Parts: sequence; C-alpha cells; structure tokens
Amino acid sequence: MAVHAHPDDESSKGAATTARYAAEGVDVLIVTCTGGERGDILNPHYPAFSGTPEEMGEIRRAEMAAAAAALGVRQQWLGFVDSGLPEGDPLPPLPEGCFGLLPLEEASAPLVQVVREFRPQVMTTYDPTGGYPHPDHVMTHRVAFEAFHAAGDPERYRGTGEPWTPSKLYYNHGFSMKRLRTVHEAMIARGIESPFGEWVESRAAKEMPEREVTTLVPVADYFEQRDAALRAHATQIDPEGFFFGIPRDLEREVWPWDEYELAESRVPTTLPEDDLFAGLRGRA
Ligand SMILES: [Zn+2]
Repeated sequence: MAVHAHPDDESSKGAATTARYAAEGVDVLIVTCTGGERGDILNPHYPAFSGTPEEMGEIRRAEMAAAAAALGVRQQWLGFVDSGLPEGDPLPPLPEGCFGLLPLEEASAPLVQVVREFRPQVMTTYDPTGGYPHPDHVMTHRVAFEAFHAAGDPERYRGTGEPWTPSKLYYNHGFSMKRLRTVHEAMIARGIESPFGEWVESRAAKEMPEREVTTLVPVADYFEQRDAALRAHATQIDPEGFFFGIPRDLEREVWPWDEYELAESRVPTTLPEDDLFAGLRGRA
C-alpha cells in the first residue's frame, strides 16, 4: 500500500517500484488522501484553465485513473479536500475543512479502515517533514504513521473493521543528494547539459542532513511505465520538464533504483535491503 497526498505523487515517488511489484503479482494499492482540487496547472504546455476546484478535481480523477492503468495498480481515494500550497508572507491560513487542518483521528479513520480491509504487508509514505513542505504531505505522513500503528489495535478506531497489523513502514525518497549528484556528474561526463547543477549546489550549500537510505529497489525495467504514469497527469507534469531531464539510457545505467528509508519493521530484516518485502518472502 502506497499512501500519497495528491494524484500525481504516486507517479513522482516510487512509481516504478509499484509497477514492478504489480508486474510480479503483488496486489498493489495506491491510496490518495486528497483530490488535488487546489492544484495549479503546472504544465506550461497544458491549455489555459479557469475552472472551479470541482472541475479541477474531475480532471485530476481522470488523470489518476490513466496513471494507475499505466502502472498496473489499483487506486483508492480517501476523499479529503486538498489544502493547497499556501504562498506569501505572511502565509495565508489554510482553507476551512481542508485535509491539513483536520484532527488526526478524523483524518486517519478512513485510512485505518482501508488498511483493515486491504491488509497490506508493507506500507509506504513520506517522512515526517512530508519530504516537501506542503501541508497535505505532512498530514499524509501523520495519517499513514497513525494507521500503521493503530490498525492492529482492536481498542482503537472501533467500527472500521477487523484489526490488521502491517509488517513494514517505508518512507519515499524523491531525489537524494547522492542520486542527484550521481546523475548530474554522469550527464556532465557525457557532455550532456544537466538541469540539476544549481540544485546540487544550493543543496550542498545548505548542508541539510540527508535522511537515511536503507533500501534500493531495482526498477530500471519499469521506467517506461513510470514515465507513462507521469505523462498521464497532464495538468501537473511538463513532458519537457524536470522529470524528463535525465536521458533514460543514462538513468538505467547510473541510477536504476527507487530509494526508500525503512522506518519500522515488525519482521527481522538486514540492512541495506533491495526489496520492500525482505523478511516477508515465504511467510504466509
Ligand atoms: Zn502532492
């Protein structure tokens, strides 16, 4: 079970991993917390849009269905309303009733219910910072963490199904510094213009502590499906933009993995891993 904030996050974080496990026969479910109603059009090649948040939600539901089909996975909505990314100084308050403002138990109950129905062995989500300072991403971490811990407790979230205890919880890594640097240097070594130079420099200058990478899942054979899923989110993803800035043959050669951080495991495993199901294979 991969828990994400908005439609398109499943395609930009761990997409090839979900495609790979689905192709190998794992029942993979993407859970999308919000409808992405407050997303802006982020693709400069997309036609001008002046619709309502409801109309945007409609478009993004269709995009999500196409992305899930490209990845070969199932997908379920939790039905919460996108908080939007607040911008300005001072930041404006979040809109009333949005996902980011909900009390934790109210926001977590539907996910606990889905965990109890679907009974995942492995859950993935974002790290406690959200991986990116969007209130919905931070909230997604909080509800996934809560569901991972509470779904197995019969005393909690009564009336949302039979208790189920997932075995492992992972955090997605988007672009680790190591990945960014490796790809950037490989492009320069081949005389290809790299779009990542400034990013590498600004991140190196900030000396931000990097979160741990415990698990590298080999997924090069699933980059095509990942890319098709990204393109399906036409309102959000520029087909000539940043996600497509790495030549795919070079990516296959120098960075054929998705990265994860094992946050919790209830089964014995040895780090580093190359499989989210390490420690679970061969168990009932
Ligand atoms: Zn998002």
